[in-house]
Amino acid sequence: MIISDQSPVRFSDPLPDQVDVVIIGAGVIGISTAWFLCKRGVSVFVCEKGRVAGEQSSRNWGWVRQQGRDAAELPIAIDSIDTWARLSEETGEDLGFTREGVLYLADDDKKLAGFEDWLEIAKQHQLDSRILTSAQVDELITDNAGHWRGALYTASDGRAEPFKAVPGIARAVQRAGGAIRENCAVRTIDSEAGRVTGVVTELGRIRAQSVVCAAGAWSSLFAGNLDIKLPQLSVRATVARTAPTADVFSGNAAADDIAFRRRMDGGYTVAASGMNEHFVGADSFRYFFKFLPSLFSSSRYLKLRFGDGSGEGLMKRLLPTRKWNEVDISPFEQNRVLNPPPSPIAIRQMHDRLGRHLPSLAGITFEEAWAGMIDVLPDVVPVMDKVDSHPGLFLATGFSGHGFGIGPGAGRVMADMVQGRPAVHDLNRFRLSRFTDGSKIIPGPGL
Ligand SMILES: Cc1cc2nc3c(=O)[nH]c(=O)nc-3n(C[C@H](O)[C@H](O)[C@H](O)COP(=O)(O)OP(=O)(O)OC[C@H]3O[C@@H](n4cnc5c(N)ncnc54)[C@H](O)[C@@H]3O)c2cc1C
Repeated sequence: MIISDQSPVRFSDPLPDQVDVVIIGAGVIGISTAWFLCKRGVSVFVCEKGRVAGEQSSRNWGWVRQQGRDAAELPIAIDSIDTWARLSEETGEDLGFTREGVLYLADDDKKLAGFEDWLEIAKQHQLDSRILTSAQVDELITDNAGHWRGALYTASDGRAEPFKAVPGIARAVQRAGGAIRENCAVRTIDSEAGRVTGVVTELGRIRAQSVVCAAGAWSSLFAGNLDIKLPQLSVRATVARTAPTADVFSGNAAADDIAFRRRMDGGYTVAASGMNEHFVGADSFRYFFKFLPSLFSSSRYLKLRFGDGSGEGLMKRLLPTRKWNEVDISPFEQNRVLNPPPSPIAIRQMHDRLGRHLPSLAGITFEEAWAGMIDVLPDVVPVMDKVDSHPGLFLATGFSGHGFGIGPGAGRVMADMVQGRPAVHDLNRFRLSRFTDGSKIIPGPGL
């Protein structure tokens, strides 16, 4: 069910000569930004080098979560989940959104005590987060091995079905007057007198007053070609889905070693928590010191790998093409959809751990396994900002392992920014300059 470069092309609107806004990348961030702009009557063209939601936005767990967020992200996440709740009706699409709650499971008192800190933040935002006892966890997870000490629970959290949701919103963008083109890589931007005037795609030029780069794991490469510094790395995360099975838990749960959630099709999406793999390449050395603080704080959940498992090729990672011009075939055309192979170790761990925690699912078949490359910035929170050195260019990237849920909220933020409307949220933490102005890097709560 994952979307890859073998999937049929579904969005092939003709290239316009001119629009108000070009968006680079048709993941949840680019498509949500397009949605808000179109609804406000702005003309938008979304260029996607591969397939709509082909990369992170269809490969994720599908959690739409407020719980455990960075304090600066939380107001946007709250806004976002309300938007998700309205989107199905507004778009007329089945996005698979339900509010089944998010559960962080604790297997000891220390972990449980750590969850208490979050309640303070939750209280400030009138969130319904609470601590559950072991017996209360048993009521939610009906077939569990009974060893959870308790959990942090936010009943108003939810999920959507990633492989359906973003393509669904994309169709609604088209109906609202926007246009989207797959197999259309943006090579670079066009400028006149120091101001952005459009983009150069592999299919030709488009003139535009504003350009939003929402290129996920490719953003740093795109920005670097324009001499914009964006320290960004990627980690591989492996996921699997089971065959349809008994409903032992209808929400989203994560423990230190496993995460699982009920799917619309009656199966479970499963992942081995803590198996985020970074494949060391040239950028790992380039950005090493910037990432050092988050490397310390998240070392338990990160594995360094020296082989080739990112789907890019080892030599390419070590010696990437960093500069090209508008007539060159760009790296974006050479890799339409980043489709790394899933980790066999992670799949084995999921099998073992699922059976250990949910005995009735022991030995269940995984119908499909896949992986995605999560893009991360040094403080594990995104950039949502204008680029001062290139007036007319905006950047929305680095959403780490939590960009799907906040996607519609971030889309509204970016639409406001592009239109020059006053920001509804405090966006200081998300400014681009924090990586170059000597600011201290303060890692958020994690990937
Ligand atoms: C395994 C996994 C599990 C996750 N679980 C969750 C979860 O449960 N909840 C949650 O909130 N988040 C989760 N995430 C994170 C979430 O999926 C991402 O943060 C989010 O999808 C990022 O969206 P995006 O639009 O920024 O990037 P992407 O979805 O990666 O989209 C970027 C797009 O830009 C295109 N592109 C790049 N360069 C160009 C170019 N030059 N021209 C044209 N197109 C270009 C790419 O092809 C791509 O389609 C998970 C991620 C993974 C991989």
